[in-house]
Amino acid sequence: MLRFYTYEGIVEALDGINLNVLENETLGLVGETGCGKSVTSLATMVVVIPPGKMEKGRILLKYRDKMINLLKQDDAFLRIIRGGYLSMVFQEPRAYLNPVYTVRDQIAEVLMVHKRKELLQTVLESLRTGRKEKGLTGSSFEMKNYERMLEKPNSFVTKILCKIPRSQRRLNEEVRKEVIRILREMEIPDPDRVAEMYPHELSGGMAQRAVIAMALVCSPTLLIADEPTTNLDVTIQAQILNLVKRLQERSKSSVLYVTHDLGVVAEICDRVAVMYAGNVVETANVFDLFKKPLHPYTRALLESIPRPGKEFKSIPGTVPGLIDPPKGCRFHDRCAYAMEICRKMKPPFTEIEKKHFVACHLYGGKK
Ligand code: SF4
Repeated sequence: MLRFYTYEGIVEALDGINLNVLENETLGLVGETGCGKSVTSLATMVVVIPPGKMEKGRILLKYRDKMINLLKQDDAFLRIIRGGYLSMVFQEPRAYLNPVYTVRDQIAEVLMVHKRKELLQTVLESLRTGRKEKGLTGSSFEMKNYERMLEKPNSFVTKILCKIPRSQRRLNEEVRKEVIRILREMEIPDPDRVAEMYPHELSGGMAQRAVIAMALVCSPTLLIADEPTTNLDVTIQAQILNLVKRLQERSKSSVLYVTHDLGVVAEICDRVAVMYAGNVVETANVFDLFKKPLHPYTRALLESIPRPGKEFKSIPGTVPGLIDPPKGCRFHDRCAYAMEICRKMKPPFTEIEKKHFVACHLYGGKK
């Protein structure tokens, strides 16, 4: 349960939602604006700030073959988890890129926090190979330094040793090569030039690719993509969707794809969760959801997709305010099938068909 304590009152933003993302799966999270999709993403990253407060519940992540509850971890551990295991791509990339650093510096920062050990290892290997080729034996001062850094790659001493000019030069060169490789993987033309650009010099599509590069650089367990293509034109949107799909397959990451665009869901998701006013009301395989939507809200959402030659339908009313949300089923004010019980009792989230869950009194609820 997630609440925001505001001057107007307590906003019940998330009310007992139950979501799981399976390994290597893309789960689409859909719903109208204001239904709690983005707040769910922020809660998953454990970055909800006051006046927001997670009051109950668990956020479980598989970490080294065991499940850990992120809400019980300290800030230092969460910093390792964010970026390394959980990453996020935002709707407006320029708002999340630092305007005073180049693309290279920003990707390099992620690499230095999460992949310092691998980078040090690569530099050490190249030093060893270089000395062998020159017929030199024994350890040089520089190699000893790298061996010491590798023992404790994230220690304070390592951070100091990294600042020794020659070590810094070699490490920076390795980081630069890695950044260029990643930008090339993002299908960014002329990556050497783009790496030296500032965010304001990038087009919308390029800025989004840079943010995706930062998010995927460490092959996270879960990538949360919060409407990453909303502000892009359709051709760039298609390229970004293909890119995310391809990189996900390669890195074996799971993806939580937040969107209000059902076309995008049909294109890239394996499963879908539909949200309404801080509740998940239906989850199903993408084919089942489009073929046989069960919840009245899901049906209304699908009917409101504009189709040529068909009358345009919209859902009557608006999403209710969450300071004093409707009792029982939060959709009852707008539902054509509402019954007496819907106004009094919250419907349970029940498996109606195989792996198809719905929260609605029409299915197995008491009348
Ligand atoms: Fe409609 Fe009742 Fe089902 Fe809610 S529980 S969606 S009000 S029928």
